[in-house]
Amino acid sequence: MHQFPALLDRKSGTVTVHQDAVEFIPDARTEGRVLKIALSELEVRTAGENRSFFFLSRKGQPSDSISVEDPALITALSRYGYKEAVNILNHASRRWRKRKLLIGGFLATVAVLLFGLPVLISKLPGNWVSRLVSQETESHLGRILISSVQWTVENEGPSQDKLKALVRFLQDKNPELAALQIYVKLNRTSEVNAYALPGGMLFVNSGLILEAQSIEEILGILGHELGHIQERHVLKNIGGNLGLTAGGLLIGLTISPDAMNWIFRGNSIVSLKHSRDHEREADEKGFEYLKRASVSPHGTVQFLDRMQSRELSGKGGTLLSLFSSHPISEERLQAQKDRVIENSYDAKAKIPVTLEELQMAVRGLEIKP
Ligand SMILES: [Zn+2]
Repeated sequence: MHQFPALLDRKSGTVTVHQDAVEFIPDARTEGRVLKIALSELEVRTAGENRSFFFLSRKGQPSDSISVEDPALITALSRYGYKEAVNILNHASRRWRKRKLLIGGFLATVAVLLFGLPVLISKLPGNWVSRLVSQETESHLGRILISSVQWTVENEGPSQDKLKALVRFLQDKNPELAALQIYVKLNRTSEVNAYALPGGMLFVNSGLILEAQSIEEILGILGHELGHIQERHVLKNIGGNLGLTAGGLLIGLTISPDAMNWIFRGNSIVSLKHSRDHEREADEKGFEYLKRASVSPHGTVQFLDRMQSRELSGKGGTLLSLFSSHPISEERLQAQKDRVIENSYDAKAKIPVTLEELQMAVRGLEIKP
């Protein structure tokens, strides 16, 4: 015997499931009637959004029905051999399976968005990313990243002009770079490093210029950074780091500049770090740019070699940060050496600026330690 709260003619009461019948008995204080239906005559209809309401009536008399809101009623009926209950239970479990599938599908979609999208973004070719992200958005991101670091940047002057001339020189010799708007700037600090930021911003530290031993070394570094820019690596890193947020941004959701500030400020440092794949890609690109410009790639090898041996000898010092954003692994160095051996190149370029001229312009500036 099982009992459930029930309603009949809007009067509350209790329905009892007996061996061979269901019986409605109204609450003592209401003036309702008693209704007893034999299981052999019972008809059960379900209703409600989740089919959680059950209407019990005698066959052919649907208007005279008892309503119950408890799925356990069906289980109880099935225990007493009410055949229809089995169908109702099956139906309910089919619905549950369907819902489980829906929930599973939803979770899978979320997982794809959270984990798949960043991976997808990091693998997209640079020109695809640039098609998805407006120039304006990219420049805005670059400015946010810049505003989050304390850099002393030269906006004009001889050092600036000479760096511009070197970048222009590489752009003129490489069709894929020619159309890019590159804003190269000297960052006054003794730290040996260079950075590529979204929006075509390329920063070269004065420490790196003073450290170089040939103009080919400088061009090799500029080529590598231009590779990062051309492939939109920082943008892809941001996509990877921020997953859905940046993914939403990349697929065209409108995010206010204030919200972007808030989102990206905290991630600027992470975003400047590149993956090993991106480093390799930038090395390959940089090598191609130099080759097309008829610049010897030996400079790049020498620079990487020198930096690595300094790091190994523990004299990293100010160089350490170079390795944090551009880790020079044995693998990277060897790959560059292999490229030099495997490719024929014609190093006859007339480079518009000499190392001496560039270093002289940089020496004239006050350098932050
Ligand atoms: Zn790099």
